Amino acid sequence: MATVILGGGIIGLSIAYHFSELKPDLAASHQIHVVDSASELLLSASGYAGGFLAKDWFSPASASLGELSFNLHKELAATHDGARKWGYAPSKVYSLAIDSRGMGKQAKDEDWLQSGTSRSGVAPSSADGATGPGAGADRHEMVNDDGSPAWFTRQRNGTLEVLDDEGNCAQVEPRQLCQWLIERCKERGVQIHTGCVACSIFKNAEGKVAGIKVRKDMEIYEKHAKNIVLAAGAWTPKVFQSIFHDSKFRIPVTPLAGYSIVVRSPRLTKPILDLSQHSGGTPVGISHAIYCNPSPNWAFAPEAFSRLSADGKPEIWIGGLNDPGLQLPDTANGAASLRDKNKSEEMRKAMVAMTGLSRQGDNLQVDDLETKREGLCFRPISRSGYPIISKVPANALGKDIEMEEDGGVFVATGHGPWGISLSLGTGLVMAELLIGRKPSADISRLAIR
Ligand SMILES: Cc1cc2nc3c(=O)[nH]c(=O)nc-3n(C[C@H](O)[C@H](O)[C@H](O)COP(=O)(O)OP(=O)(O)OC[C@H]3O[C@@H](n4cnc5c(N)ncnc54)[C@H](O)[C@@H]3O)c2cc1C
Repeated sequence: MATVILGGGIIGLSIAYHFSELKPDLAASHQIHVVDSASELLLSASGYAGGFLAKDWFSPASASLGELSFNLHKELAATHDGARKWGYAPSKVYSLAIDSRGMGKQAKDEDWLQSGTSRSGVAPSSADGATGPGAGADRHEMVNDDGSPAWFTRQRNGTLEVLDDEGNCAQVEPRQLCQWLIERCKERGVQIHTGCVACSIFKNAEGKVAGIKVRKDMEIYEKHAKNIVLAAGAWTPKVFQSIFHDSKFRIPVTPLAGYSIVVRSPRLTKPILDLSQHSGGTPVGISHAIYCNPSPNWAFAPEAFSRLSADGKPEIWIGGLNDPGLQLPDTANGAASLRDKNKSEEMRKAMVAMTGLSRQGDNLQVDDLETKREGLCFRPISRSGYPIISKVPANALGKDIEMEEDGGVFVATGHGPWGISLSLGTGLVMAELLIGRKPSADISRLAIR
């Protein structure tokens, strides 16, 4: 019998990708479904996120998954030309301190996002021994004399320090990675349904769960399923409650809204190459990530990433401005209309301060940037600070709910600020849980107890 994955963000797609790889027969016979409530995919966090990937910036509970996932990103990109198709590139990483403001406020582990400081606080201390900023970089006009990227405007009294290197960090263009996953899933026969809201379960003659009912355009459809996987990002608790009405169990995940902008800059018009890393005679493209603490130039902790898009053109993604009070809309379609004009302006001001044209002798940058995309989306933040990847215990589903012996309800959510990095690993371990195989990473601390 079929498997229904609720949610077609990067987590749901990665699960469908790995599950259809492990069970091609199920995919080919149209028994793997991805069901999403939005009218189209990628209107959510996975379509607007930065694509920063880290190997070992995680807390012990998710460290094994983090490393697995980092390696899977690298392998997938190497096997399927990810550099060209979804902008996969190793990343140099810097932290910027201005006037040393905010440095004393550095938060460790999962606290950094909630306390409004920089992600740089979770970088492993081994990074202190990283090579200098310029090591190996192609010294053309895209890179400053010290090797830092020329698209980043030098900040008065600012100190740019290398935080980690290309061995441990990389970047992707997440929307393009998702699009690639969608294409592969479709080719294998995975069924993708948009505009469908899961409403309840239905039962078979023996009183066991036989699938879920979904509503599309005012009609109710039954989707037979042995396994139900909830991977609806910040909406997952709501989806769980809407299906298992009687359950007292609550998935401990809340939304955190974040703004982002993608721009093109006249100071970044061609890929930055690392001439020291030749793969088959071709220099490797590298990306840059710069993490900043709050400073006199911006009130929040911006993250600026240069990356390649699939058309081969470099672009700059900037985010870091959050809105903790913002309520989750009913569907991802509702997110764009929630954008606050003042916050969008604050975001743009910070972006211009970080990447605008610098005029000699003053600290005022000119906005000569071309906007490609602006976004507001919701991260799924778990109470523990690390993801929940688990089968839901039968007694948490509510009274009179019995699954088939070889089926179950599963959850993969709560990836917070790390869902892109942890996506491929999450997809693989969830697919392994679905087929009853030992997961490739230690996810014992990510289980629902
Ligand atoms: C500004 C910002 C920057 C980020 N940068 C990074 C980064 O650099 N690196 C990194 O690793 N992570 C980053 N993240 C985090 C990352 O984007 C998320 O962790 C990840 O995208 C979550 O993926 P998801 O598939 O769980 O959720 P989502 O992408 O939110 O997808 C959930 C899907 O579920 C669907 N859905 C909702 N309700 C239902 C329903 N009732 N039934 C069916 N489907 C439903 C939605 O329509 C959506 O398609 C960032 C996040 C933000 C906000």
